[in-house]
Amino acid sequence: MENCIFCKIITGEIPSTTVYEDECVKAFLDISQTTPGHTLVIPKKHVADLFEYDTSLAADVFTRIPKIARAIKASDDSIVGMNVVNNNGAVAYQSVFHSHFHLIPRYSKRDDFK
Ligand code: 5GP
Ligand code: ZN
Repeated sequence: MENCIFCKIITGEIPSTTVYEDECVKAFLDISQTTPGHTLVIPKKHVADLFEYDTSLAADVFTRIPKIARAIKASDDSIVGMNVVNNNGAVAYQSVFHSHFHLIPRYSKRDDFK
């Protein structure tokens, strides 16, 4: 999709720090870290939001999220929880219209909340 920043991240036109990648999804660090390790998981197929997922795409993306979440958690002993957030539509605070899931690690110290 032309002019989609996340499609450009998939092609490498815009640089990103990859956390996980396979044929269906890419996971990379959010440019604005809510907490350290804040990761975005996106389908490689451009869909604007959750309303555009068919069953097959949902299976591809949703089955990978727990695996990616576990890998992030395993990367740091002090991660004790995680928020998984998905905004759909500008009224729901979506700002990039290539569907994505925020994985926001939460730490044993409780001073990391924004
Ligand atoms: P939304 O508000 O749509 O749910 O989340 C979009 C997220 O994309 C934001 O957390 C924002 O920081 C992140 N973001 C926007 N542009 C870029 C970029 O060029 N690179 C990366 N890595 N993240 C981005
Ligand atoms: Zn896109």
